[in-house]
Amino acid sequence: MIKLHDKYFKPFISAQAIDSALAKMADEIANDIGDEIPVFIGILNGSFMVVSDFVKKYPKPCEVTFIKLASYEGVKSSEDIQRLIGLTQDLSGRTVIILEDIIDTGNTLAEVHRIFKNENVKVLKIATLFYKPEAYKKDFKLHYVGIEIPNKFIVGYGLDYDGLGRDIPEVYQIKETQHMTNLVLFGPPGAGKGTQANFLKGKYNLVHISTGDVFRYNIKNETALGMLAKSYMDKGELVPDQVTIDMLNAEVEKNADANGFIFDGFPRTNAQADALDKLMDSKDSQINAMIALEVDDEILVKRLLERGKTSGRADDADEAIIRNRITEYYNKTAILKDYYTDQDKYFGVDGVGSIEDITVRLSTVIDNL
Ligand code: AMP
Repeated sequence: MIKLHDKYFKPFISAQAIDSALAKMADEIANDIGDEIPVFIGILNGSFMVVSDFVKKYPKPCEVTFIKLASYEGVKSSEDIQRLIGLTQDLSGRTVIILEDIIDTGNTLAEVHRIFKNENVKVLKIATLFYKPEAYKKDFKLHYVGIEIPNKFIVGYGLDYDGLGRDIPEVYQIKETQHMTNLVLFGPPGAGKGTQANFLKGKYNLVHISTGDVFRYNIKNETALGMLAKSYMDKGELVPDQVTIDMLNAEVEKNADANGFIFDGFPRTNAQADALDKLMDSKDSQINAMIALEVDDEILVKRLLERGKTSGRADDADEAIIRNRITEYYNKTAILKDYYTDQDKYFGVDGVGSIEDITVRLSTVIDNL
């Protein structure tokens, strides 16, 4: 990932892919033109890389020149008129190939056709390395296209974002979601995840998603999801993965503009961790850290029984169910420590002490991410 000005971009098209597309275009054009000497015209600034690499691959003699797009303010201040300047050579009777880095709306192409109308060239053909079919609004024929791309903003290989990025040898695509901080708050039942998440979400402006809370909300409202989840939760067992994953995806979608998330009680299995990675990936984001509250089992049992006196949670009221939840944690969930350790994202924090002290410990980890 790279950052240019205020925006983040992710790798999109490799230097090798660009190289093969240009090689293919050079072969096609050389075959079509035969032995005639074409004039390749690049449109500055963006096309300098394309033209330079393309003509090195062109297998026969050719001429190369450039014209430049210049912006003029229109009559209305909102109007920005683009004009091509710098065409000084007499091209009458010549075979001219315009070499473009990218064609999106086709506005530049309209300008190309306008300035060539009276040039009496023999042939005018258009070749472009990148083409955005969804953005193209004109009817001009595109004779040679290297790579079709979706209608998303790209930089690199001559293309810039407000002046930066032209020098990058490969192409990057803008990230759909700009930078997010996503934390997994981890630990056995009763470790204090919910309490701490409540402090952290305000401090770091994050959305807190507790899968346990969402299930309880559904149970209270007697939804189908709630009814299904209840049978597992009452015994202290995990709700099936697919049900939980679908629910979590929906919760994340509801908060599309979030600065990031605190996931509390999710993931609890490897399948859920995989699903979470996929979800983050689809948002052009990632989990930054799993922060685990470490608390001794006997303290957990004591804490949960204490909480059960006021929480009204059936799964807090009975010591056998509490112990089953802790066993479920060690059997199914604790393995996730390895999952995140392998990615250097696991941070253990002592979960015994005052609430404030533990918040400070967690904040130290987050501030250092
Ligand atoms: P919690 O509030 O996190 O202690 O969760 C209470 C109960 O909700 C758990 O014992 C499970 O039955 C269910 N639950 C919560 N999150 C998950 C999850 N990620 N996967 C499966 N079951 C879950």
